[in-house]
Amino acid sequence: MAYQKVLNMLKLHFKAKMLLLVITVFSLQLFAQQNSVIENIVKDEFANSQLERLATELSDGIGPRLVGSPQMKAAHDWTIETYKAWGIQAENQQWGQWRGWQRGISHIDMISPWIKSMNGTQLAWSPQSPKGGVTAEVIILPLATDSIQFKQLLPQVKGKLVMISMPQPTGRPDDNWEKYARKDAFEKMKADRTAQNEAWAKRISSTGYNSRTLAVALENAGAAGIISSYWSRAYGANKIFGANTKKVPVVDISLEDYGLLYRLVEAGQKPKLRIIAESKELGLQPTFNTIATIKGSEKPDEYVVLSAHLDSWDGGTGATDNTTGTIIMMEVMRLLKKWYPNPKRTIIAGHWGSEEQGLNGSRAYVQDNPEIIKNIQAVFNQDGGTGRTNFINGAGFVQGYDFLGCWLSAIPQDIRSDIGTDFPGTPAGGGSDNASFVAAGVPAFYLGTTNWDYGTVTWHTNLDTYDKIVFDDLRRSTIVTAILAYMASEDPEKASREKRIPAVNSRGEQIGWPQPRDATRKGGID
Ligand SMILES: [Zn+2]
Repeated sequence: MAYQKVLNMLKLHFKAKMLLLVITVFSLQLFAQQNSVIENIVKDEFANSQLERLATELSDGIGPRLVGSPQMKAAHDWTIETYKAWGIQAENQQWGQWRGWQRGISHIDMISPWIKSMNGTQLAWSPQSPKGGVTAEVIILPLATDSIQFKQLLPQVKGKLVMISMPQPTGRPDDNWEKYARKDAFEKMKADRTAQNEAWAKRISSTGYNSRTLAVALENAGAAGIISSYWSRAYGANKIFGANTKKVPVVDISLEDYGLLYRLVEAGQKPKLRIIAESKELGLQPTFNTIATIKGSEKPDEYVVLSAHLDSWDGGTGATDNTTGTIIMMEVMRLLKKWYPNPKRTIIAGHWGSEEQGLNGSRAYVQDNPEIIKNIQAVFNQDGGTGRTNFINGAGFVQGYDFLGCWLSAIPQDIRSDIGTDFPGTPAGGGSDNASFVAAGVPAFYLGTTNWDYGTVTWHTNLDTYDKIVFDDLRRSTIVTAILAYMASEDPEKASREKRIPAVNSRGEQIGWPQPRDATRKGGID
């Protein structure tokens, strides 16, 4: 072995030893404090958790929080009041404006060939129905071979309620099929469904419009209303997003009732619906982030940021997206204020507005606060449903293992053992508010959680309600987040921002580091 090589190896060995020594000293230094602060946090959260009360007040008391709605503003104000009662300073910071819309009554009844109240609701931002509702025959989107033929068929929709979604071949989720069906029957159902999906996609593209522009084309041709059904692949769950028509209501109807209507139309029964969709347009409304602060004592100009969006879609009450993330961060602030009232660094909780419409609140905060962004130690973002923390991706920071690994080691073993890690990991390009910070080069981490069938059952669905919250898991996530914030605040070193270049995404492909993007400051008015 060459002399130089041996020397290098020895140097490396020495470096590793020194690092170990530094880590050990650091751990020991912290140990005395950990005994009290960490123990108190764990004990308090299991004995005195406020999570249930907070969830009731926010999800049940205020309800869903569509950006620009009066409930969104009420949620911002409630967040401030709650912090104030704990002696924590908080304020609403305006960053833009959004179309103000207030959801009213949705009532949908089939009145012919027999009477049945439909399980459905208007989409967010849907135009109102005329006074007394709209009563009309239901038809299926005309089938055309191309856009020229579709134009010729378009007058058929005049005065009609037009169904624009594919009817599902089965209302049973796939795991139910897997449990009970013969294997070949399950495979056949899936193959048939794939073919049906492809045929429906062709039916839409043959109109010359896409799923966004089609509804507008139909209303311009005189349709009385638009009916969709966006099944979320769980019993009773439909995703409820926004309408983009200007004059006629758009309603989502459950898989079961949508299927009923569709079959009646196909059978020539000419079903009729009465749709009452009430709402109020409130003009442009100010949009905010609510920012709570516990001032740092030694390094007040360095920051640890707790991040969770406060807005939601409005088909349910936003219970797991993102009442859960919101109240975890509030509860963490309560615990820190009580047991760690003079943090070394300033601790901020950012409750962002308009994450659901494009991470706008957090993007605006990053744009508007360059001095803070420069001096952030770490961001911890909660937006994963209702599970307990089980995974942290190092977000592509080369030294992540050293600092984040050290912070994680302070978590009690029975909770720490749930948490997997990936270092250096991959920078988030989107998905939630951590991406807004990562794009600015800030070590910002998404706190991954156990799944609880989030994507199908509650994510943006009518079933995103209080009863789906798993409080025992939230308590554990609260403890994890509080200890990470405490350790990040106490760390003698500033966390390294050295990036993995080139960055690699979750599929192992090389990507550039995500770039910051502008917030939409005037939204919902296109
Ligand atoms: Zn979310």
